[in-house]
Amino acid sequence: MSVASREVHLVARPQGEPKPTDFALVTATLPDPGPGQILVRNDWLSVDPYMRGRMNDVKSYMPPFGLGAPMQGGAVGTVVASGAENVPVGATVSHFLGWREYAVLDGAGAQVVDTALAPAETYLGALGAVGLTAYAGLKVIAPVKEGDVVFISGAAGAVGIIAARVARHLGASKVIGSAGGPEKTRRLVAEFGYDVGIDYREGDLAGRLAAAAPEGLDVYFDNVGGDHLQAAIGALNTYGRVALCGAISQYNATEPVPGPDNLAQAIGKRLSLRGFNVGDHRDLLAEYLPLAAGWLGEGSLRSQWTIEDGIENAVESFLGVLRGANTGKMLVRL
Ligand code: NDP
Repeated sequence: MSVASREVHLVARPQGEPKPTDFALVTATLPDPGPGQILVRNDWLSVDPYMRGRMNDVKSYMPPFGLGAPMQGGAVGTVVASGAENVPVGATVSHFLGWREYAVLDGAGAQVVDTALAPAETYLGALGAVGLTAYAGLKVIAPVKEGDVVFISGAAGAVGIIAARVARHLGASKVIGSAGGPEKTRRLVAEFGYDVGIDYREGDLAGRLAAAAPEGLDVYFDNVGGDHLQAAIGALNTYGRVALCGAISQYNATEPVPGPDNLAQAIGKRLSLRGFNVGDHRDLLAEYLPLAAGWLGEGSLRSQWTIEDGIENAVESFLGVLRGANTGKMLVRL
């Protein structure tokens, strides 16, 4: 039962902002799954900012995407044929062969997910790497303590929205978020649980942060880097903590980007700035998943999506994430 599957290939390494012509939609014929393998019909694809880094031919924590080869990424789908003992036909699985309609992979590379607990796509959001990123950042990397003032950039995005709720659960007394544009900024407070929203496109981030937190910041969850990191360093209190999660303001840069010009303040203020990768924190899942499932159930954590339909729109969805077209987690529904 071989199956035809459309998949997205990277065909040129983007210079600066990626263009649709850097990608191609290709139809492949997949073999039957062999012993220990499964054939999955992908139902949901995740498009994520870090994928931009894998489009460059540089050494990083993940290998670059090959040219003329299908790209990879998080996906959730339904097993339609199985040669793997523990992964039956009909199971919903989370795996890493996204950017394609169907995938053949080892059963051991797929995680069977419980759709009685939450809808399948939640495993690409609050119950997946996105949620764990927020939790690891604020529980382990820049731990939030009772009464802390917390600032989150990329505040209306996938990680940011969950981070705000996690910060609150960990005891934050004030949660400040920054996002692009008045509508997203309004929703930060009206819908996503922030106390103050800052529209970074209005400029004077340092001034806006000082006005939002005259008492200073204790924790900064950095999704953006650049001017956001600089403004946060200026606003942090002594012993302030920074979780360096992402630097999306720099992902399309074609020249080296200057660092914060106030980094020396980290010495006097005894700041901790710590980068992290969610992949190193899978051990936290056993602690995080029941918590997150409980928070989802009671409504103190909510899923927020921007959904595009069809593999033919996967590239546009990805370009949209880099430009801020999403609120919450950007997903492609197949
Ligand atoms: P988001 O859903 O937050 O989408 C990205 C958002 O970034 C856009 O919606 C846009 O929102 C914002 N953005 C784009 N360009 C800029 C800019 N120049 N300045 C400020 N904001 C900008 O993505 P994720 O939640 O998936 O990821 C958030 C960050 O976390 C990324 O940097 C990502 O790489 C990182 N990450 C790191 C992980 C780790 O293990 N360390 C794991 C997962 C994610 P707006 O309209 O508000 O500008």
